[in-house]
Amino acid sequence: MQTKLSRAKSLELFNEAKTVLPGGVNSPVRAFKSIDENPPFIKKADGAYIWDEDDNRYIDFVGSWGPMILGHRNRQIEDALKKVIENGTSFGAPTQIETELAKEVIKLVPSIEMVRFVNSGTEAVMSAIRLARAYASRTNPKKVKIIKFTGCYHGHVDALLVQAGSGVLTLGLPDSPGVTKEATANTVLVEYNNKDSITEAFKLNRGHIAAVILEPIIGNAGCIQPEPGFLEFIREITKANNSLLIFDEVMTGFRVGLGGAQERFNIMPDITCLGKVIGGGLPVGAYGASKEIMAMVAPAGSMYQAGTLSGNPLAMTAGLECLKQIQEPGFYEELEKKAMYLLMRMRGIYPDMQITAAGGMFGFFFTKKPIKNFEDAKANVDTEFFKKIYIKMLEQGVYLAPSAFEAGFISAAHTKEDLDFVLEAFERAVRV
Ligand SMILES: *Cc1c(COP(=O)(O)O)cnc(C)c1O
Repeated sequence: MQTKLSRAKSLELFNEAKTVLPGGVNSPVRAFKSIDENPPFIKKADGAYIWDEDDNRYIDFVGSWGPMILGHRNRQIEDALKKVIENGTSFGAPTQIETELAKEVIKLVPSIEMVRFVNSGTEAVMSAIRLARAYASRTNPKKVKIIKFTGCYHGHVDALLVQAGSGVLTLGLPDSPGVTKEATANTVLVEYNNKDSITEAFKLNRGHIAAVILEPIIGNAGCIQPEPGFLEFIREITKANNSLLIFDEVMTGFRVGLGGAQERFNIMPDITCLGKVIGGGLPVGAYGASKEIMAMVAPAGSMYQAGTLSGNPLAMTAGLECLKQIQEPGFYEELEKKAMYLLMRMRGIYPDMQITAAGGMFGFFFTKKPIKNFEDAKANVDTEFFKKIYIKMLEQGVYLAPSAFEAGFISAAHTKEDLDFVLEAFERAVRV
């Protein structure tokens, strides 16, 4: 058995970082706050592994929070990047590769006929909401409200940083200082896998709903799958009310299947948000829809949205090389098989857990109760036990997302030996 890893240098670097970066990081979850640990500082990565500054190796199930579906340092992406970097890194002018990546996205994502590239998932969502409102309000200027689900994360967009008020179905309240009441006043919160709450929201806001936005499979409250018929129901009720359906596939896109969750469940949203895998490890986001809807986006139409570095040639290149490789036959089946291999055996070792996987995305909850939404997860998941197990896994060289309410990611680079290593570590972790 591996002895407990020392992270002395990481701790030193973390303390130094805290003097110049808020909380020592550039995105909150990296600080490991929810498990009261100091995060390893990462020096390098390759395949399924990352190494920290103390030279400890970890099997990585975070994968940069989703993008690294091919594993780290994919040589095809690396070679392509080396080539294009010699031609310059940014022009702020149209380039051929943007069209190439757009064609690939349109080919793979069933509901997308035209696409706009941005730099992050947050930007994609922010723009998609603006587009939905612009489109819905053409015929009815009162259509400005957005229905959002508790537990779904859509980036740090003001209008979507909301929490439930005294009960769900109330208008959302700001979930962060700095977000104004006005910014969230047109956001209505409902529960995932709860049809009644959606019906009620449409009833209470008749004629005002521009769009419903959701993660078709939740990946930001742990991993939670839609119950049979749930997505169909949302598709129908949005159509019946002339409201748009936005699938935030920033996580599920190119992750749960080649065509994302919309292909997996055969439900076509009106607007799709993409991010993470689409950039192959470089910053790319995108939103896409039918040609009719996308015709509203400037300069084709009047809905303004722009970006200095959007369509950046390095980012487009990494994205294109990534999308080429995920089209290998059986690619997603293989990822899901590996995820289920790991999860089924984990549950064999520790039966009181819920497990789920979709393509290269997976989740487990330490609870006996099936979890159908964020409310369930908050009420039932044993977060103290998670914390204990998390630290023991980290000490043995297994890098999971540092929260009981995050999804895990498996890549093409993970081997059966890696998974068996994790299972042995898990067996030791639950034993003590
Ligand atoms: C990660 C994520 C975002 C935000 O993307 P960023 O690139 O971090 O801005 C939005 N929606 C979903 C579903 C995500 O998982």
